[in-house]
Amino acid sequence: MNDNVILQVRKDLCLGCGLCAESCPQQAISLQSGQAKIARNKCNHCGLCLNVCPQGAIVELLPVSGRDLQDTVNGLKDRAEGIIARIEKLTGQIRA
Ligand code: SF4
Ligand code: SF4
Repeated sequence: MNDNVILQVRKDLCLGCGLCAESCPQQAISLQSGQAKIARNKCNHCGLCLNVCPQGAIVELLPVSGRDLQDTVNGLKDRAEGIIARIEKLTGQIRA
């Protein structure tokens, strides 16, 4: 598992069964108010909890900086504009 990945428990899916906490070699998971909670400072990214959760309630998140996100949006915008320009050109050729 990528060390930059953050694990998060989906509250809408977690049933509080505790299987993830039992499987964690780092004791990084506790049950609080009937739901799993991951202590990120203890997690070593082994990925075991992801595999044992019967609900698929533990998900991986990859934080993205605002700059990277903006670059991606700009890249997609440029590509979309290029595609639209080509469509308009083709449409013009068909009409001609
Ligand atoms: S194994 Fe899944 S459903 Fe069970 S407590 Fe952990 S996150 Fe919740
Ligand atoms: S990835 Fe490994 S160390 Fe981290 S919370 Fe899950 S079982 Fe524990």
